[in-house]
Amino acid sequence: MIDLKSLHSLLRCPGCATPELIIGALTGDLVCRSCANRYPVSDGRPVMLTADNDVFRQDDYRNAVIVDTHAEGFDWQRLIPNPSVNLASERVLGRLRELLESLPSAVVLVVGGGQQRKWLDQRLGAGDSIQLVYSDIDVSADVDLFCDGHDLPFIDAAFDAVVTTAVLEHVLYPERVAAEIVRVLKMDGILYSELPFIQQVHEGAYDFTRYTLSGHRRIFNGVRELESGMVAGPGTALVWAIENFALAFIVRPSLRNIVKAAVRIVFGWIKYFDLLLADKPAAMDGASCTYLLGRKIDGRVPDVEIVANYVGAKYLKHS
Ligand SMILES: [Zn+2]
Repeated sequence: MIDLKSLHSLLRCPGCATPELIIGALTGDLVCRSCANRYPVSDGRPVMLTADNDVFRQDDYRNAVIVDTHAEGFDWQRLIPNPSVNLASERVLGRLRELLESLPSAVVLVVGGGQQRKWLDQRLGAGDSIQLVYSDIDVSADVDLFCDGHDLPFIDAAFDAVVTTAVLEHVLYPERVAAEIVRVLKMDGILYSELPFIQQVHEGAYDFTRYTLSGHRRIFNGVRELESGMVAGPGTALVWAIENFALAFIVRPSLRNIVKAAVRIVFGWIKYFDLLLADKPAAMDGASCTYLLGRKIDGRVPDVEIVANYVGAKYLKHS
């Protein structure tokens, strides 16, 4: 876990974009010397939200508590089969780890860290030479700081890598968040991103958009691709679709959980077709989730190149 002093050296004020933050002697809050904005520190975790943020308010984070939904007690969800396979994360994060280990040291930002700390620390070999900084807007998340992805509170080129899984579909202005992610990457720094494509609403009011693989590459056109592909394919998408078809008839929460379990037990096996479809380009048109591993470049990947590199069944060209 990164200490506040190391974190402080990476921060900038999300209000005026200067790195003029000092730690208040009396309160321990971070105070901007340039614009006088104040950012409380909740249990060692800075709350880097400006007062004019009209969706998320500083006050809601003052007594933030980490809620690990899987930590203790009986978790009925453990009994229900997962509706999706994961064809990529373990392997690609392993590749990212090798790239990071080739550096003398590395600092990695996780945007939308949620409860991923334990799992991701292990995958990326977090320790003395590889440090991970977990951020999220979710008040119950296990993070090192709270911030809004639209205004990442970090200086330019602060990180050797950024990891973001299933975040952009939940933000109001995804292009702005993507631009912020690329801004805080060092030149040649590495991005690992996962984004859902064929998947239903899963965060209620905070769920706005979806991306094809081409859309995924385009929104991160500030990085050049090392590799991209499917995290989960049309089999997973079909299980989600059956589940959401059944849930469309039901309102009561307790009954929804029973229906969810029943659908997954009866139809969950369909997800394993993704193992057969993993290398089939045509499957990409119906993928449930895609990934992108790339390096930050000076400038952006031309749109024509993104169009030319489409992966799917129809090689449609308007020329
Ligand atoms: Zn400021």
